[in-house]
Parts: sequence; C-alpha cells; structure tokens
Amino acid sequence: MAEKIINIQHLKKSFGENEVLKDIDFSVAKGEVVSIIGSSGSGKSTLLRCINLLEKPTSGEIYYKGENVLSPGYSLTKYRTHLGMVFQSFNLFNNMNVLENCMTGQTTVLKRNRSEAKKVALANLEKVGMDRYIDAKPAQLSGGQKQRVAIARALSMNPDVMLFDEPTSALDPEMVGEVLKTMKALAHTGLTMVVVTHEMDFAREVSDRVIFMDKGVIAEQGSPEDIFGNPKEERTKKFLHRVL
Ligand code: ADP
Ligand code: MG
Repeated sequence: MAEKIINIQHLKKSFGENEVLKDIDFSVAKGEVVSIIGSSGSGKSTLLRCINLLEKPTSGEIYYKGENVLSPGYSLTKYRTHLGMVFQSFNLFNNMNVLENCMTGQTTVLKRNRSEAKKVALANLEKVGMDRYIDAKPAQLSGGQKQRVAIARALSMNPDVMLFDEPTSALDPEMVGEVLKTMKALAHTGLTMVVVTHEMDFAREVSDRVIFMDKGVIAEQGSPEDIFGNPKEERTKKFLHRVL
C-alpha cells in the first residue's frame, strides 16, 4: 500500500441541526485517483471542503502525511498549498488574463519570482492545451477553456493532491469531453486526484477506487469493477440504476 497522503478519521460535519457528514473515514494514497459519486445533497462537496478545510469539521481528525492538521500550531495556509482545488464554477480572476491567473498564487503565496512563476504557468497551460491563450481574459473563453485554465492554475502551485468538485457540471455538453480528456491525461501522469463527479464513464475508466456516498456516509467503496459491475449495497444499486 502506497503512502497515505491524506487520512481522515471519524469526520463529522453539521450545519446547525443538520448532520451532513456522519463519521466518515477517508484516505487517499500517493498516485491514487478516487472518484466520489452519489446523489445531490449526499455530502460530497462538504467532504471535499472539509478535506481542504474550507469548512471546519465539527469533529474528527485529518492527517496530512501523518501530521494532524487540526492540531494547534499546524499551519493551515501551508496545508492548503499542498491541495489544489477545481470548482464547478471555475472561480478564475476575471480581471486577470490567463497567464496572470496562473502566476498570481505562485508569486503571492509561494513567493516565486515572476520569471519562475511564468515558466511554471506556461508548462501547465501547455499541459491543458491553453498555452496559446495566455493574453486572453476569462470572459473571452468558453466554459471548457476556462475550466482547463482553472486546472492549470491549480497545478501551477505544485499540489500533492488535486481535488475536483464536479468540474464538468457547469459546462455545455460539447465542452465536457475536452475537460475530461485533460483530467484523464493528468491521472495518467501519476497525479493524486479526488474527483466528485456525475460522469460515470470517467469514474469507471479512470479511477483506482470509487466511493459512493449516501446521506452523509460512505455507503460503499471499491474498485470501479466492483462498484459498477457488482455493487453490494441496495442503495448503490438504486443510485446506479437511476444514473446509468
Ligand atoms: P452534494 O455535494 O453531495 O450535493 P453538499 O455537500 O453540497 O452535497 O450538501 C450536503 C448537505 O449539506 C445539503 O443538505 C446542503 O443543504 C447542506 N449544506 C452544504 N453546505 C452548507 C452550508 N454552508 N450551510 C448549511 N447547509 C449546508
Ligand atoms: Mg456538490
């Protein structure tokens, strides 16, 4: 078993009376691609947001490379630089061009000088096929192009783990393919990825492991062959029946 980069135990998260995550154990190993599937409202986004501490867990432990990130004195700013996040809604800086979008985190957070930051940004924009658009502003790009820039921006921080929250859900159907293709190529480079997705073909073809969430718990997890070919839980079967 490869080294666990992130290891979460007994994670619970409530919003007021509403317990959204109920005692979740989750880990991801170096180089692993994990897809998280499940109905809307099952807690998938909240789990991702707890992983990178955009949401504070109500209780539970989160270990990053064996260190408890919730312990006093652990630098959350530093922790977050190890995790790249790609949102459904791109979240690009609309006043900056493509190149600046991919440089700004590097210069401000990682303190790289501009020439180094530019080199890294260009290499990642090339990876996602957006290096010809460095001067464009987000408003000039299609949704698929924006999302590929968002991926390049996250990669430019050299994260250990990339978290994707339904990266293709806001896209017009004809643009879904280009983003999935980019993500598939990244998965094949050995990047560690956690992907919340509605794209069952992607989950089946690209993941090492698939997690099915239902009502705040991990109802079932396993290899894509197990989950899609031989699901054990009734609720997994029902969900797959509905979406496939
Ligand atoms: P999913 O991503 O699987 O659709 P979410 O994690 O977004 O599910 O949401 C799970 C539940 O948590 C939903 O009932 C949602 O209304 C609730 N929820 C999510 N974020 C918040 C929040 N910031 N405040 C209150 N309730 C929230
Ligand atoms: Mg969600």
